[in-house]
Amino acid sequence: MSSQSDSDTPTRTAIRDRHRETAAAVLPEHTDLYVGGEFVTPDAGGTFDTVDPTTGEVLASVARGRESDVDRAVDAAWDAFEKTWSGYSAGRRQRVLTTIADTIEEHTDELARLETLDNGKPVSEAKIDVRGAAEQFRYFAGIVRENPGETMTAGSRYGQVVSEPYGVVGQIIPWNFPLLMASWKLAPALAAGNCTVLKPAEQTPLSALRLAELIDDIVPTGVVNVVTGYGEEAGSALTSNPDVRKLAFTGSTAVGKQVMKSAADSVTDVTLELGGKSPVVVFPDVSVRKAVALVESAIFYNTGECCEAGSRLFVHDDVADEVLDGLIAAVEDTTIGDPLDEATDLGPKVSREQVERTTDYLDSAREQGGQFLVGGDRPDDEHLADGCFVEPTLIEGLAHDADAVQAEIFGPVLTVFRWDDYDEMIDLANDVDYGLAGGVITDDITRANRTARDIEAGYVWINSYHDLVPGLPFGGYKQSGIGRELSADTLDHYRQTKTINLSLR
Ligand code: NDP
Repeated sequence: MSSQSDSDTPTRTAIRDRHRETAAAVLPEHTDLYVGGEFVTPDAGGTFDTVDPTTGEVLASVARGRESDVDRAVDAAWDAFEKTWSGYSAGRRQRVLTTIADTIEEHTDELARLETLDNGKPVSEAKIDVRGAAEQFRYFAGIVRENPGETMTAGSRYGQVVSEPYGVVGQIIPWNFPLLMASWKLAPALAAGNCTVLKPAEQTPLSALRLAELIDDIVPTGVVNVVTGYGEEAGSALTSNPDVRKLAFTGSTAVGKQVMKSAADSVTDVTLELGGKSPVVVFPDVSVRKAVALVESAIFYNTGECCEAGSRLFVHDDVADEVLDGLIAAVEDTTIGDPLDEATDLGPKVSREQVERTTDYLDSAREQGGQFLVGGDRPDDEHLADGCFVEPTLIEGLAHDADAVQAEIFGPVLTVFRWDDYDEMIDLANDVDYGLAGGVITDDITRANRTARDIEAGYVWINSYHDLVPGLPFGGYKQSGIGRELSADTLDHYRQTKTINLSLR
């Protein structure tokens, strides 16, 4: 593990200065609630701080929305739906979405640096997020006109089946891909003809607020509303508001269950994209170099803060030593450092709380007999002392029912298992509550397909990982969620079906 060569290593002060300068250039102008096309203070006042996880400094104080603010935003969204948005043709909505995509792209550099400040992800990865966000709007702009409906004649009846928007939807997003998750939610909701109230995560509200500023002139008043605040206040008010006709949530499985329970009171439709503990299976025929590169990216991309992270490695006995040696070498070669630096591979985690969560799992792995092949601690470099850094870590020797194997750690921690019996390996690969994703690494297409079928998960990559393409549905089996994002199915999650049966007598 390296943190730049000594002569290049910036000091704590230099990192802090750079972050302050960047903040002065890219922070949004407004940190109030975005309701009815205006930035407004919460009814009860109040703010919360969002902190730069690299320096520990407060980036901004952001409005703390609560129940009455959520109610106000929901009313504004209904007003916009009734007065303007429901009258927009699919073609007109398509133009709006395309303009949003263009605008995001034009601001790629600025949005990426803002995301890096607020979340800690390396700026090179933040740019991928921003391009992905623009791509979401472009994709849903492309399919928004594909709404032909159906007709049927049956005797003296003429039936029409049409899809209609819900009206107002509530959307709650997490902190690991703040802008990207905002776009995964907003783009299909708007394409399908809904107005929305979006609640970003308390750790990372800034890119959603900047997006609100950027689209203010593009989207009619009240169509998009952003209520910042705490999950237990603003989030839970959104899930229990009876005028919200559909809820879409991304986050932990524990909170997803609460959202579903809350939605049950008003029989509100819910889609959930929740946690994961995904297996990556390496067969012995594959080049070690290829396996190492894929496994490294599967677990360490975005500091392991990915719901689909490949966090359990099942490597065949015949190549296990070589693959693990390669992974240890790759970890030792990882540049941990200031995420604003283009050369940084691994930035800080999003918050101190998330560091503690990860190190608690590392402690429990130690207690339960895990052998640490590399990592296992916080880096002790002086220049990283202000940040929420955790070393990339490989752990072998844990029982498969150990806490660190079963729980979503959401950090740069890979648990490793060797295998030689395929059936036993698949049983273990599926022996978790989650079923979001998986990876298979082999050049044997028959094996690859069989294993992809055998893994209980909503998305399986063969010889790649994290490659999410608009058009290919993404979502979970088991406790990883309900519903699919990124695809035409997603539009259907934001519409309801109406049948019109006309008597021809
Ligand atoms: P949460 O599930 O708590 O946060 C996700 C979103 O839900 C945030 O906007 C949060 O708001 C909101 N929220 C929290 N409580 C409620 C509630 N009662 N009603 C409605 N909304 C609510 O995740 P955490 O930030 O607590 O992270 C904990 C763990 O969850 C992580 O370590 C990781 O394992 C997992 N996680 C999984 C994600 C995924 O993509 N699958 C994403 C994020 C986390 P606020 O942040 O303001 O509290």
